[in-house]
Amino acid sequence: MSASTDSDRALEIFRREVRAWLEANCPPEMRQPVVDESDICWGGRRAQFKNEAQRVWLERMAERGWTVPEWPKEYGGGGLSKDEARVLREEMAAMKCRPPLTSFGISMLGPALLKYGNEQHKREHLPKIARGEIRWCQGYSEPGAGSDLASLKTRADDAGDHFIVNGSKIWTSYGDKADWMFCLVRTSFTGKKQEGISFLLFEMATPGITTRPIRLISGYSPFTQTFFDNVKVPKENLVGERDKGWTIAKYLLTHERNMIGAMGTQRVTPVSQLAIRHIGLANGRLAEPVLRTDIARFEMDALAFSLTMTRVTDEARAGNETGAMSSMLKYFGTELNKRRAELVMSVAGSEGLKFGDAAGEAQLAAMWLRTKANSIEGGTSEIQLNIIAKNVLRLPGA
Ligand SMILES: Cc1cc2nc3c(=O)[nH]c(=O)nc-3n(C[C@H](O)[C@H](O)[C@H](O)COP(=O)(O)OP(=O)(O)OC[C@H]3O[C@@H](n4cnc5c(N)ncnc54)[C@H](O)[C@@H]3O)c2cc1C
Repeated sequence: MSASTDSDRALEIFRREVRAWLEANCPPEMRQPVVDESDICWGGRRAQFKNEAQRVWLERMAERGWTVPEWPKEYGGGGLSKDEARVLREEMAAMKCRPPLTSFGISMLGPALLKYGNEQHKREHLPKIARGEIRWCQGYSEPGAGSDLASLKTRADDAGDHFIVNGSKIWTSYGDKADWMFCLVRTSFTGKKQEGISFLLFEMATPGITTRPIRLISGYSPFTQTFFDNVKVPKENLVGERDKGWTIAKYLLTHERNMIGAMGTQRVTPVSQLAIRHIGLANGRLAEPVLRTDIARFEMDALAFSLTMTRVTDEARAGNETGAMSSMLKYFGTELNKRRAELVMSVAGSEGLKFGDAAGEAQLAAMWLRTKANSIEGGTSEIQLNIIAKNVLRLPGA
């Protein structure tokens, strides 16, 4: 019997076990498409579960380490191989299981700590991320440092066994809900601006930190401006070397961009189904030929992108860094998500104009407006195109 047959069989056995476990443990309510923000479980000390099913689903998955299937077991992960993790993803998708936990800890900080954190950072923070106990926010952007992130001015001054942090961050997503922040601070004011940045972790409850909500056109207030006034941060909370945080910052951004790009593949009600519901059929086809063409083109692009995303995710999990490729995924995925929202608004007609807090389609207009921010957050589309021109296409003059 060949080795590949052995591993195929082992994987098939694993698949059957996973299927049976999911069948027995994923509550029916967690097998429905995500409709609004409250369907997403972010965890954290102040986690508010929408219902008991959401809480139980997180608890059961975390118990197995399957909130972060490929992280090592000693850090709260499932210790799965990339093939096993793919099987788990496939079985969850087939059963329409929702992700048990969504967090910046999982999608951004975790990968950075696994690569650059010391043993103490990993043991302290990763298991709490995996179990959804601590919710993290990202302190990168500042009023004068968005696209030109390396111009950041929030400073951390050396005060013996700790740093004193002063300054402010802006657009801090869920800054008022997070327990901890991963933050870029300036520790040197001489030389190249990229070379004086450090990567610091601290509790949001530390004295001297305040947040002020920022309200969006969509009506949501998902982020804050965050102020630091003589905030004392122990030196052991520095990740990597002092003044060398830029490398970690950029590595984390590739994970953030993959995560945002993946919005183009999210499992939601297909536009064609919504169109049939709102517009209806004529002779077995959507009774609106122009929209029919646009929807077909969108669904083909979405499928192709989803397959590309799966391939790249598998490669990344096999140890091939996505690097500048993450800019391509981010660019295309966010444009795709915006196209979807435009189509949904077109098919929904006057229903799409409803704007409110009610669940489901009453929020269509707010969701459509929210997608506009997809091509800004995590670095704008223009910046992604610059990166693609320079680092992927290597165009002259880029
Ligand atoms: C929904 C949302 C959530 C966010 N969450 C967070 C968060 O949690 N933490 C955090 O730190 N930040 C967060 N951000 C901030 C985000 O990273 C910045 O908004 C983004 O990097 C752009 O920076 P800016 O807003 O300062 O725009 P600017 O940098 O001022 O850009 C303004 C315009 O100029 C263009 N531009 C700038 N430079 C160039 C260039 N070199 N070439 C071509 N065009 C250029 C940009 O594309 C843009 O259109 C979030 C933003 C949004 C919208």
